[in-house]
Amino acid sequence: MLQQTTVAVVTPYFSRFLERWPDLPSLARANLDDVLCVWAGLGYYKRARLLYECAQQLVREHAGHFPQTEAALALLPGIGPYTAAALTAIAFEKKANVVDGNVERVMARLYAVRTPLPKAKPLLKSLADTLVPEARWGAYAQALMDLGALVCTPRAPSCSVCPWQGACRAFLHGAAADFPKRTPKKRKPLLRCVAFVLTDENDRILLRRRPERGLLASMMGVPTSAFAPKNGPFFEQAPTAAAWCLLEGEVTHVFTHFSLRARIAVARIGASGNIEGAWTPIDALAQEALPSLMRKILLHAGLGQ
Ligand code: SF4
Repeated sequence: MLQQTTVAVVTPYFSRFLERWPDLPSLARANLDDVLCVWAGLGYYKRARLLYECAQQLVREHAGHFPQTEAALALLPGIGPYTAAALTAIAFEKKANVVDGNVERVMARLYAVRTPLPKAKPLLKSLADTLVPEARWGAYAQALMDLGALVCTPRAPSCSVCPWQGACRAFLHGAAADFPKRTPKKRKPLLRCVAFVLTDENDRILLRRRPERGLLASMMGVPTSAFAPKNGPFFEQAPTAAAWCLLEGEVTHVFTHFSLRARIAVARIGASGNIEGAWTPIDALAQEALPSLMRKILLHAGLGQ
């Protein structure tokens, strides 16, 4: 939950999640839609799906327990090298080199590494490896992460209270904040789409589940045209022929790899007939597991809270 998300945002989601599924077997038995519903609003829904798959795999293949080696942990869905190392050191008190963004920054400063990130990552990891002690691996991993998060901070490191000040090359050069070096970021591409908000005479709205792969995979939402650099003749991609009205303004949403601008087309029809999708009562929308983008679109169309 904490990937790319702050503790303050995650805390209420974490509490609700654990209340609902207090252990691995209960999560493994859950319905994915319910998991996505409790996750709704937290973003990066792939994490929810992977967490769910991970619980199922642990119950199926490991009798509902986490394996205790870094290599076996790294084979689980959603568990990458960092999480596998952190679990090994912190949960199982075994030797592991735990390197997150904070630790990379500390290493880059400690050794005044001039290679820019992200190219420097393997070097920073190998430097961190040379410092891992022969005992108290959990405490060391947490201390190092805390040093990075609280003392060796990105903009104004508190070198005067740092226990590694005497060994820190960046500090000795009087250039702590100049490290790590970074390759300039490319601007995110801008994509556009049209979202189709279709309602019927029974005050229901058309929702559809998105494809299993790709962005917002398996999430419910109003149909949209393809995300593309330009909006083409989008009514061809509308769920049905109707008197579509394009609303003023647009909804913007920033994803990890691109920004999206969505225009909103609305139409009202009589009977919903055989238009494929989930016709959902408008007053039940609050209970749907909708991603933030869809909530913004509904709000723009006057249907959200
Ligand atoms: Fe970071 Fe300063 Fe400590 Fe060096 S001395 S590790 S720059 S806080």
